[in-house]
Amino acid sequence: MRLVTVGVSGSFAGPGSPASCHLVQVPADVSPDGREWNVVLDLGNGALGALQRAVEPLDLDAVAISHLHPDHFVDLCGLYVYLRYHPERGTERTGGHPRRAGGLPVLGPADVAERVGAAYGLGPGEHMGGQLDFRAWSAGEQVAVGPLVLEPFRAYHPVEAYGVRVTGPSSARPGTTATLVYTGDTDYSPGVVEAARDADLLLCEAAFHEGRDDCVEPGIHLTGRGAGRVARESGARRLVLTHLPAWNDPAVTLAEARAEYAGPAEVATGGAAFTL
Ligand SMILES: [Zn+2]
Ligand SMILES: [Zn+2]
Repeated sequence: MRLVTVGVSGSFAGPGSPASCHLVQVPADVSPDGREWNVVLDLGNGALGALQRAVEPLDLDAVAISHLHPDHFVDLCGLYVYLRYHPERGTERTGGHPRRAGGLPVLGPADVAERVGAAYGLGPGEHMGGQLDFRAWSAGEQVAVGPLVLEPFRAYHPVEAYGVRVTGPSSARPGTTATLVYTGDTDYSPGVVEAARDADLLLCEAAFHEGRDDCVEPGIHLTGRGAGRVARESGARRLVLTHLPAWNDPAVTLAEARAEYAGPAEVATGGAAFTL
């Protein structure tokens, strides 16, 4: 299993990275059916551009949306155009994936279809069903995508929001299973700690700074320190911090996390790859 942190900028695109987007891949060499699988976690502002450096969008197998803030979903509009009008859509491309019968599965909160349709400007009676096949998350209900299992859990954020626990074939330890946990946007909660239990890699948001933002109100974002606490209490083996807004100093976020968590920790950069 491989993770590419395609977009790591918090709340809006930054000068060095698009907004939230993470690609989870099962490379062919560890895939039970011998073909690569590609799942995208979130598709925020600007992410579709950078995503094309990591994968051909026609070869995506599913998109999982944590919540319906624009920095996590709005580039689904561009993906819809790509899938609907690409000259090679629906054909058997050399080295490409077998064509899907229906649309690309898009998992998300209850009103994901309506919100994406509204963002695109669909009229009454119009829908994206031929290209995007929307399905609502149900917390704790697992969704299989090829050899990957996605399990959504509720995050602590002002709107209906989920993190995702992803398990699949390990590339670091072939023959075993690896676990990636992505928090989406969340403040600290015991449920998030439980969902991150013993993760091989915890991809955790850390939008706030201690003493600057954490006094705003609870239930929005984690600080670096809060992310470190989640990593320590969950027993996560590795911590990767993401969703830092452009005005944050990553060194401050990392120092906060390291004050809580003794394991390996780093701040994600756009396009970085991790093997797990
Ligand atoms: Zn966000
Ligand atoms: Zn949000």
